[in-house]
This record gives sequence, C-alpha cells and structure tokens, in this order.
Amino acid sequence: MALITLALGRGADAPAIEPLAAPPYPGPNSELWHVSVPAPGAIDCDIHPALPSMQALVPYLDEYWRAHITMRGLERDNYTASAFPPNAPINVRPDWKPANGNAGTDSELLRTQALDAFDTRYAICNVLHGAQAIFSEDLSAAMCRAINDWLAAEWLSRDDRLRASIVVPMHSPELAAQEIERMAGDQRFVQVLVWEMGELPLGRRIHWPIYRAAERHDLPIGIHAGSSYRHAPTNLGWPSYYLEDYVSWSTGFAGVLNSLISEGVFVEFPRLKVVLMESGVTWLPGWMWRADKTWRGVRAEVPWLEKSPAAYAREHVRLTVQPFDAPPRADQLQRIIEEIGSDEMLLFATDYPHWHFDDKDALPDGLSESLTRKILVDNALKTFPRLSP
Ligand code: ZN
Repeated sequence: MALITLALGRGADAPAIEPLAAPPYPGPNSELWHVSVPAPGAIDCDIHPALPSMQALVPYLDEYWRAHITMRGLERDNYTASAFPPNAPINVRPDWKPANGNAGTDSELLRTQALDAFDTRYAICNVLHGAQAIFSEDLSAAMCRAINDWLAAEWLSRDDRLRASIVVPMHSPELAAQEIERMAGDQRFVQVLVWEMGELPLGRRIHWPIYRAAERHDLPIGIHAGSSYRHAPTNLGWPSYYLEDYVSWSTGFAGVLNSLISEGVFVEFPRLKVVLMESGVTWLPGWMWRADKTWRGVRAEVPWLEKSPAAYAREHVRLTVQPFDAPPRADQLQRIIEEIGSDEMLLFATDYPHWHFDDKDALPDGLSESLTRKILVDNALKTFPRLSP
C-alpha cells in the first residue's frame, strides 16, 4: 500500500511526514476482529454511499430542474459536503477506496467490504452531500428528492440488507417535511438525515415540522457530524486547520442536545428518537452532569421540562460508536456506561468507507456478551421501528 508523503510546515526545510498506513482489513472471521457477531449479523447504523457525480442525479430530476442544471452549468459540480472532502487522505481508508472514482461510489465494493465482511443484517445508508445545505431552498429540495430516488433505485433495490436515511433540505423545514411525507411510504427508509450544525440550533421551533413528520412515520432523526458552514464550526470563530474543525464537532453535539432538550422537542414529540452519528461517546457523562446541575438551578425558565436533561437524553438519544473514543479496557468502558446510566444508548457503525473505523478496536475487548449484543443488534432494533419485521 502506497504511503502518501506530505510536506507539512511553514518552511522549505520542514520535515516530510508519513501519515499512518491503513490498518489491516478485518472481517468477522479474521483474528483481528475481536467481536463475535451474533447471527444473523450486526446492524450497521452508519455507512456512506457517495454520489459519483452530478450526472448520476440527472435522470432523477424533473424536466424543469434538468434544464436548469444544464443551463446553469451545474452538471460539472458535485456539491460535495466540505465537512468530508473526498480527496483528503484522512477521510477515506485507502483500502476501502476503489481504483476509480471516490470511495463509497462502488456498490460491489460496499457489498464485499462493508456488508459481507461483517455479516451485516442491515446497514443504514447516509448520503453526506451538499444538497442539504444549498442556499436556494427550491434547488436544495429538488436535489434532495433526486438523491432519495437515486438511493432507492440504485442502492436499496440492489441489496436487501441496505436501508437508508431520507435526505432533506434542512434550511426549508416546510419542504423537508414534504419530502419526509413523500418518502415515508417506502419502508426501506428508516431515518431522516440532518447535519449537526446548520443555520439555527436544531431545537428551534422552526424545525418542528420536520420532527412532526418524522415522529408520525416512526422515523428517528439521524444527526451526523459536520456543518453546513453557515457559521464557524467552533464556538470561538473560524479555525485555521481541519484538526481544529474536526475535534470541535463533539462540542457541537453538546449544543445540539442543549437545544433539543431546552426547547422542549421531546416534550412536544414524546415518541421521537435522535441518533448522534460520529459524536464520540465519552463526552456524554460530563455533559449530563453540567446540564442537570445547571437545570436544577434555572429550571424555572424551562417549566415545560418534566425531568432532567440527562433523563431526556437517556430516553430519546442514541449514539453510534464510530469513531469510538472509548478507553482501552472494558472495565473502564463499563464505568462510563454506568455514568451514562443506560446500556441502551450505543449503536454499532462502521462509518464505511471513512477512515475513522477502528476495525479490531471497534469494541473494546472483554465486553460482556449481553452488552455486545445490545450494541450490535438489540439497541438498533429498539431505535429504528422499521427494522423490525
Ligand atoms: Zn458517518
């Protein structure tokens, strides 16, 4: 495997740095894969098929938008989500990259590398695409419609293990709710996908039409790491480096929970679940402590909350474990789960084909069989009603 050598630094004499090579490719039968996957396989809550080009969407656009895409010269753009630039080596495991095109565009590779390799029962496709962040609400809605139809026709119909999240134009909650209603009849769509950081905090009432439609159709809201970059992705302003940007995302997730809970989303929508994807996990006990402690002091300003923020989180919030910022030993992880106060919040994910998958360390050694089974299968079945027969 070729290593890419980058010359980093501010001077011509800066030393060349070799990024880490990809770890060996695991599979359930590999001795590297430390988890015994229960038959008939784990539920992978976050994989990323990618749109190969704007041309691929053209057949799924109506006549008006086909004409506009051509007239505006948009067919040469791919509106890639800049939170995950596809050419950045850090974003894609080299061993999961096809010979041609971007990672995640080859359905045969996805089948062998992500589904067969882990004996996957179901995998939920989350298409991370700039369509959700486009300023024109109409163009955004048209592209989201096309992506959902492309997903159904070119991925879900080709492998019955695949499920998907509905991509919606987040900056127009009214059009987003319409898209949920349009797609909800297709039971292979099991979730609604939104970005962690958008134009407004996700709890604000302007977003509630999305939650109303999602709850009506038993669809959790999947909140994926990343930003539409309407605002700086850190609390302090615009950072200089991707390192700062990426590391800051977990604080964005804390803000998401503050907003959803304080605004009363789970009071208004008592059956709604949200799934935080790529948020990490170990920040949660600290957030729970701060949120509950502060709520006890100022709860008069949010009288609609009937219980503490941590209690709402335990009931309504789930987190994928990839990347898993878990401590190295199972007893340490067990302690974190005790601090969280629930063993039903964690969901397995590979994050295929992104770099972040930890293969042999996806789950720490020594987890109890029952907790492993909950993370790999049972918690997902309870979170996504549409995955149950
Ligand atoms: Zn992901």
